[in-house]
Amino acid sequence: MSTRKLVCGNWKMNGLKADSVALVRALAERMAAAPPACDVMVCPPFTAIDRVVAAASGSAIAVGGQDCHAAASGAHTGDISAPMLRDLGCAAVILGHSERRTNHGETDAQVRAKAAAARQAGLVAIVAIGETLAQREAGETLRVVAGQLRGSLPEGASAADTVIAYEPVWAIGTGRTPSPADVAQVHEAILADARAIMGETKSAGLRVLYGGSVTPANAQSFLTLASVGGALVGGASLKADQFWSIIQTCP
Ligand code: PEP
Repeated sequence: MSTRKLVCGNWKMNGLKADSVALVRALAERMAAAPPACDVMVCPPFTAIDRVVAAASGSAIAVGGQDCHAAASGAHTGDISAPMLRDLGCAAVILGHSERRTNHGETDAQVRAKAAAARQAGLVAIVAIGETLAQREAGETLRVVAGQLRGSLPEGASAADTVIAYEPVWAIGTGRTPSPADVAQVHEAILADARAIMGETKSAGLRVLYGGSVTPANAQSFLTLASVGGALVGGASLKADQFWSIIQTCP
C-alpha cells in the first residue's frame, strides 16, 4: 500500500498495439525527465498489455487490466482470468466499471467475486462504484455508493489490495463533473463506509480515486482534496500530454 496518490489511465477499447506502445513510451519519457509526486498506472486493452508491460519496463509506470473473470481458469470463452493478467505483468485490475455494469449487466456480487479472484492472484482490485444521474437527482447518491461498496468488496479486503474508484455514471465521458465539494462529501462517506466494512486497521490508507471527465483543467481541484486518493482517467489518458498534465497536478 502506498500513501501516494494514484493516477490511473483507463484506455478502454482504444488503440492497436503500436498506438499503445507509443503512448506508454511518451509517458515514460516525461516521467523519467520529471518524476511525478504520485503513482501512475495505465490499463490498456487486453491485446496490448504484453507490449505495454514490456515498453513500461524500467519506468515507474504500473500496468493493469480492465476486467477479469472470477474463476482462475475453465470453460469461459472470451474471458481473461486474474492469474493471466498477473502472468502478463499486471499489478491491478479495474472491476465493476459502469460500462461493464451497464453493457454486461455486472452485479455487485459478480464484482465481489472478481475482486476476490484478483486478490487471490496478487492483483490490486480497483473497484468502481457510482450513481446514475437519476439516483443523484433523487438524493440517493450516498445510499447507492454505500450499497455498491458493501456488495462489491470481498471478505478480507484491505487497503493493500483494494482501491476504490468513485465514478458518477453521469460524469463518465460527458464533460460534466460534480463540484469538488460534492466529490469530497462522497469520498468522505466512502472512507467512513470502508472503515465500517473493512475495519479500522485494514482500511487505513485506502485510496479512493475520483473518475469522470477529469481533464488538465479540473484535475487539481479534485486531486488536492484530502479525501481524494487519486484519479481514474478515461478520455484524457489517451493523449500523453493531457495525461501528463493531470499527473503533474498531484500534490
Ligand atoms: C472512465 O471511464 O473510467 C472515465 C473516468 O472516463 P472519462 O475520464 O472519459 O470520463
